[in-house]
Parts: sequence; C-alpha cells; structure tokens
Amino acid sequence: MDVTVKFLGGAGTVTGSRYLLDLGDFEFLVDCGLFQGRKELRRRNWDKFPMPPTDMEAIVLTHAHMDHIGCLPKLVKDGFRGPIYCTAATAELAKILLLDSGKLQEEEAEFAKKKGYSSHENPAPLYTVEDAEAVFPLLVPKDFKKPFSIHSSVEVTYYHAGHILGAAIVKIVIKGDKQTKKLVFSGDLGRYHDPILYPPTLIPEADVVWIESTYGDRISTPVKPEEELARAINDVFDRDGLVIIPAFAVGRTQLVMYYLYQLVKKGKIPDVPIYLDSPMAINVSTLYKDFHQDHQLIGVLDDTDQHPFQHSQLHYFRKQEQSRTLNELKGKAIIISASGMATGGRVLHHLFHHLPNEKNGVVFVGYQAEGTRGRRLVDGEPEVRIYGQEVPVKAKIYSVEGLSAHADQNELMEWAEGFGEKPKLAFIVHGEERSAGVLAQKLKDELGWNTIIPNYLESFMLFEGI
Ligand SMILES: [Zn+2]
Repeated sequence: MDVTVKFLGGAGTVTGSRYLLDLGDFEFLVDCGLFQGRKELRRRNWDKFPMPPTDMEAIVLTHAHMDHIGCLPKLVKDGFRGPIYCTAATAELAKILLLDSGKLQEEEAEFAKKKGYSSHENPAPLYTVEDAEAVFPLLVPKDFKKPFSIHSSVEVTYYHAGHILGAAIVKIVIKGDKQTKKLVFSGDLGRYHDPILYPPTLIPEADVVWIESTYGDRISTPVKPEEELARAINDVFDRDGLVIIPAFAVGRTQLVMYYLYQLVKKGKIPDVPIYLDSPMAINVSTLYKDFHQDHQLIGVLDDTDQHPFQHSQLHYFRKQEQSRTLNELKGKAIIISASGMATGGRVLHHLFHHLPNEKNGVVFVGYQAEGTRGRRLVDGEPEVRIYGQEVPVKAKIYSVEGLSAHADQNELMEWAEGFGEKPKLAFIVHGEERSAGVLAQKLKDELGWNTIIPNYLESFMLFEGI
C-alpha cells in the first residue's frame, strides 16, 4: 500500500486546515476548514476540490473552529456524503458554529448584492444555513481515547488537545500489507495550565507528525491574565463606569466568566451584575454541562450550586429586547458580548451606546486583527464607525493579554518532546511563514527532527509499499 498526503490548506497560513490522505483505495480528509483573513486566501474557499467530493469517503475533524470545519457545508453541497467523525462536544459545537457561518455567508452575499461590489451579477453565498444543516446528519460523534475504525486498514483515536471544548489530537494507525504506520495530527494545541480545559496529551510515538505552529515564534509573557483583568475592571469601577468585554463565543467567553467568578470570590473585584449578552455564547456555555467529562471545571453538573457559569449575579440575555435594555445601563456592571474583535454582533450596539461616555471601559481579551474595529479601538483612534455613524471614543480602552487558547513556543516544544522516539518526519502546519519557520528550526536544532513546511496544494509520498 502507498500513502500520500496533499495539503489543501493549513499550509503557510493559520486557516483552511485540510489534509487529504490517499491510501489508494481509500481517500479521506483530516479537517475541512475555511480560509479566513486576506482576500487571496478567502478566494480559495471557492476553488474546486482536487477530486469530486463524491469520491471522498470520510472526514476526521480535530475541533470545531471555523478554520477546521467551516468548509464542510460547501463540500456536502458539492456531493460529499460520507461520515464526518469528531468528538461528541465537537459535533455539538459544530452545529452551533456552522449555522452561524451559514447565516454570515448569506448576509455577506446579500450585502455584496446591495453594494454592488461583487463581480457577479447575483453574488451567491459560499453556502447557506440550509447547506450547514445538511452537514448535521453526517456527523459521527466518537469518544476520547477509544480507537475506532474508519476503514478496514485505518484506525483513529482522539486525545485531549486542550484549546477549546472537544478539541482533539488525532492518532491514525494505518495497517498496510507488510507494515503498520502511525500518523499524529496535533490539531490546535491548548495551554498546559488552562483552568478549564485539560492540557494537551503527550503521544509517545509516531512515524509522521503534523504539528501546528500558530505561536511557533512566540513565548507568552508570564502575566497573570486575571490580575490584568481585575486592574482594568477596578479602574473603570473607580469612575463608576460600565465594563464592556467583547469576547468570542467559544472558549474565550467561558474563560472570562471563570476569571470574573474567581476574582469576585477572592474579593479582588466588586460583586456586580454580569450580563452575558450573546445567544451563541450562552448555547456554548451550556455545553460545558453536557460534556463535563471533557474539562476540569468543577460544579457545572449541580444546578443548585454556584459556579462560574451559573450564579446569582450572572444574567444570560438571549432575547434582543433584553439586550436593548442594556443601552440604558449605567454604573458598575459588566457586559460580555460577541464578537471578540467588534466586527459584528450585539457588542456593536453596546459600543455604539457606551463608547461616548468617558466613565466606561472596553476590555479586549484577545488578539485584534488588522482592519477590525477592535484593532482601531486598541490603536487609540478617537472615533470609530458603527452603524454608519462616527462614534466618539471617550471610554477607556484596555487590552488583557495571556488569555490565548493556543500553546506558545515553549508549550509546542513540550508537546514535541513528549514523543519518546523522534518521528521520522514532521510537517509544520497551521502557521504563518515566520512562526512555522522558527518552530521548524527549533525542532531541528533541539530535538533533531526532520521537518517540512509544506506549501498549499503540495503532495508528499508518506509511505511506499507498506
Ligand atoms: Zn482552533
């Protein structure tokens, strides 16, 4: 048996993860992500697959971030009908996120049509909400640490990767006619000291490894994010202001809720009302109860108990009307609302109403990409455009570091050192050119690894005649 891999994404960029494995009589994909960011990357989402999706037999997912699952609806629309394996939590998260993505794609196409900036007469969405729903029946949830077979000669096992709820490292064992080979995909690796999620599992052996390199060139500063968060919040409350925290619905929101709960318990911030104003973030938070075995947060199972996701000062606002009541809110309170970079979502109307008041504060808890409204605020622009109006930025803007869900360079190396024997080959994926290059060099210098930084659409023969 010959085994080849083709990089259909996640090569030279952090988005569009999809690796096509070809065993001759069986072709399957690991991850099926969306390209995000620059236009030339996003254009790839429309590229034809190198083979008809009807010919592909299975998909194995690592986790539910859009850059790992966001292309599924398109593939299903184009004819893919095979099983999509994932952990149970990933399946539930995927449903929430794909529906949202379908809605966004529809809105974008509608917007392009209205503004007339598309080169197409009638710009079509990449996929619709209906296309997203068509993915659901194909999802096949699997347990962590229990091997399952996806083909007579291919066995898959999921291990905790940290990062986000349900995220997995994937081990794939291929039984050839003469030899058995092990492939390990890191997926996205989380932190080794996450208060909610388990640390990434160390895997003792592999023939070929795919290792992510998002922060391959960065070492996190040893700051305690909860202390920075407390400082920012107390600064705003000293002025009797209101705190707005733009946060992503998956992971970051829950981490912020966790720290806020701890800070109140330790008396480091006042016990004030916290409004979680994002239906998606609320839906995601409830999954922590359903999948309590996939994280280390205590107390989420007990309805009567007080825990970070359920306490008397925490208010879940699902309805638009509830959200609107917060426009009049004054004084000490905290609003957590998506999106994390203030590019859309309900946080926009909170910013619209509360940015002009110098007492208030906006606390960013994650990286703000170039070109986003969040970045403009962090960069100190005196005005930002929201709903077609210039809104004066009188509120104070804060940035809290250290809440990233990604392993830094030291943690990536720690995971790499977990292989008792060095793998024969390692592909450095899911990283910009610089971070992938720095990690590759470090793996080579310190661990003697044989590394390759693959290019988009590049193919490699992994094993011949096994
Ligand atoms: Zn991820």
